[in-house]
Amino acid sequence: MLFEDHPPPKLVGIARLAAASDSLETKRRVEYLELETRKFIGRGSGRMRSIYTLNPYRGCEFGCKYCYARYAHEFMELRDPELFERRIYAKQFRRAAFHAELRRLKSGDTVWIGTATDPYQPAERRFNLTRQMLEAFEDGRGLDIGVTTKSDLVARDAELMKRIARKNRIRVHMTITTLDEGLARLLEPLAPRPALRLGAVRTLTQAGVPVSVLAHPVMPLINDSEASLDRVCEAAARNGATAFSAAPLFLKPCAQKVFIPFLEQSFPHLVRRYRERFEKSAYLKGHYPEMIAERVEKIRARHKMHRRREPESPEPFFQDDQLELFPSLGKRPGPFGLAEDSTLHRKVGRL
Ligand code: SF4
Repeated sequence: MLFEDHPPPKLVGIARLAAASDSLETKRRVEYLELETRKFIGRGSGRMRSIYTLNPYRGCEFGCKYCYARYAHEFMELRDPELFERRIYAKQFRRAAFHAELRRLKSGDTVWIGTATDPYQPAERRFNLTRQMLEAFEDGRGLDIGVTTKSDLVARDAELMKRIARKNRIRVHMTITTLDEGLARLLEPLAPRPALRLGAVRTLTQAGVPVSVLAHPVMPLINDSEASLDRVCEAAARNGATAFSAAPLFLKPCAQKVFIPFLEQSFPHLVRRYRERFEKSAYLKGHYPEMIAERVEKIRARHKMHRRREPESPEPFFQDDQLELFPSLGKRPGPFGLAEDSTLHRKVGRL
């Protein structure tokens, strides 16, 4: 038994479907499951109506302590927040259906890959879902494509992205919260080291793929010093990235269940302050976010970096995106009404 099962008293909707998913493969403490998906590309709503989202995986092995996406597993009645990093759902890829969805997009539409979970997490080495989906973009639709990750595996697809860029715009957004390897190991236990991520930035930019570096999230008294953020920005610029951004941490209750115990263990002197700050709201308000914005602006100017590729580009940090993975079930409506619609998959056997 790799982990405890969590049979809820009554499973409905996506929870029932997830519970019925068959195991594709078990690796160490991680179990991979396949989830049939009727619709791969989600759609934003409101002022983000023009944005489409694509997340090949549900759950993420990298296990970042601040991860906001753990919430998504709660919809599947997986209440233990650690199951988010130990029970990974890979969407069953149907090439023809995916191409048909892409054909419905218009030239100029924006598609973000990895808004909820990392598209280049370890599962990608086994299942190649992100690669297969990206290949479909080669046909060319004049799309504006963003890929968000903190994995050096993204460099594997540099040549493919170059080909995609012949008829589309594509940009990689690499998250690097700190260059301190020890701190990164604490915060993002199974994510590739910052040096590896920078190496991927270099490979991509040398191949002609534009890259932004995101120092998200900025955590008070952990990685928020000007020196720390400056080091990330300087290294990003040195390795060819052209844009840099950073935004303060936010902690939804589900993320707090992991982050606060992490603080108790690794930063006990900060526990009280974090509890006080996040007790009433998941978001930091007032002077702190303003101070960080000014700090980041100054750092950007110092290294001649852009904030984003262009003014109309959306912020690549989809704060609430992952909270709405299953809007068709009527749960937690918000600014990103994703239209993904997963159904029970049939077992295809072990890979
Ligand atoms: S890489 Fe992203 S999705 Fe994965 S655990 Fe870290 S924050 Fe969560």
